Amino acid sequence: MDPIDPRRSRWRDHLADALDFVMPVWCASCDEPGRILCARCLATLPQPECRQIDGLDVWSVTRYEAAAGRIVRALKEAGTTGLARPLGGALSQLLIGAGWCDLELVPVPTSRAGLRRRGYAVPDLLARRTGAPVRRLLRLQRRVADQRRLGRADRQRNVAGSFVAHPGDGPVVVLDDVVTTGATLLEARRALRAAGRDVLGAVVVADTPRRVSPAVEE
Ligand SMILES: [Zn+2]
Repeated sequence: MDPIDPRRSRWRDHLADALDFVMPVWCASCDEPGRILCARCLATLPQPECRQIDGLDVWSVTRYEAAAGRIVRALKEAGTTGLARPLGGALSQLLIGAGWCDLELVPVPTSRAGLRRRGYAVPDLLARRTGAPVRRLLRLQRRVADQRRLGRADRQRNVAGSFVAHPGDGPVVVLDDVVTTGATLLEARRALRAAGRDVLGAVVVADTPRRVSPAVEE
């Protein structure tokens, strides 16, 4: 049901790790040479917070501010897939803190356009790096517009009814890279609930609540 073959994804992970090892790298946050995320930046990145969005507990590793923004952009737009390893580690700490460490993790699906552009699905990559059991229960059943330039109401309309979930029961946690209004996570919860799942919450790398002005939010 998923456009990504897991064997190819794993192969890509191994290749990315190998490239990180042989290519010269710089810290995605502070530009220090040596590692894709230096020890100092890795230590200061996690500032876990929980935001409730329409009754859904959304735990974030950090806020989408200068350093986190550079790291997320490097992972999402610059192909620095090796960042999924330290970020996956930070997400697993979040899962432990929330009491969700043994639950199945459901990555938010990526559009075909996004997958074509990057060659990898960011939520999927992050989920596999947490060490938690990953279930790709969601898929997109129609095309959606790029959410980035849309306000809250338009985002909700844009994603409404766009996901469908594999039927089954049991509690799950949803994973995405970034949350802004929460429209995508709420659509994931709707689809999973419709399929019989109990959605206990969501985890993301970065929360961007203040990027959207109240005028745009409403
Ligand atoms: Zn650094």
